[in-house]
Amino acid sequence: MSAMITIALSKGRIFEETLPLLAAAGIVPNEDPEKSRKLIIGTNRDDVRVVIVRASDVPTYVQYGAADLGIAGKDVLIEHGGAGLYQPLDLKIAKCRMCVATPAGFDYAAAVRRGARLRVASKYINTAREHFAAKGVHVDLIKLYGSMELAPLAGLADAIVDLVSSGGTLKANNLVEVEEIMQISSRLIVNQASLKMKRSLLQPVLDAIEGAIQ
Ligand code: ATP
Ligand code: MG
Repeated sequence: MSAMITIALSKGRIFEETLPLLAAAGIVPNEDPEKSRKLIIGTNRDDVRVVIVRASDVPTYVQYGAADLGIAGKDVLIEHGGAGLYQPLDLKIAKCRMCVATPAGFDYAAAVRRGARLRVASKYINTAREHFAAKGVHVDLIKLYGSMELAPLAGLADAIVDLVSSGGTLKANNLVEVEEIMQISSRLIVNQASLKMKRSLLQPVLDAIEGAIQ
């Protein structure tokens, strides 16, 4: 078989916002993953295919070389750790911010000042641990896999660390953003061995994507 490029993508906002960047590189998927149940999707190019994985699994596929390229949020990349990955491009898509949020009535600043031990629920345990350690805030971290907003409402935690874009979901659940941890956007990631072995195939794709970033 001749050389092939495999690109790992997640469904949803990353897929949608990635389509124009791939198009700039002359790559058009043959099917819409929201409508198809296929997990491997061909493209207009015989030598390029897309694999559809969970957002948090994208770095793992690229790390082990099961995909040559992938697109993942900075949130996911920090939690993964980035081993074996080259991160050449900030694609400036799927932008949001990671923040600390609490119920509207909770005085977070006062709790921090008096050195209270806080229970914090998040999908982003590593990022949260680093953030609170750097601030000298004592926390018990509780790992969740989704619906973080529920945790303070149900009495599971005092605060959450989650992604926010419009703030609509926080507001709907009577939560307020009390601290921004970092700005988030999606990054192109490349398997380090692929970049060496398939450079002639990959470099034009990377260059075209770079040229199409807004
Ligand atoms: P899954 O649905 O498989 O549990 P997920 O919820 O993390 O995973 P998405 O909601 O599609 O998947 O989010 C994928 C990526 O998009 C996130 O890792 C993040 O980088 C970015 N993202 C998440 N929420 C927002 C948001 N509100 N606005 C913009 N970008 C976001
Ligand atoms: Mg989701």
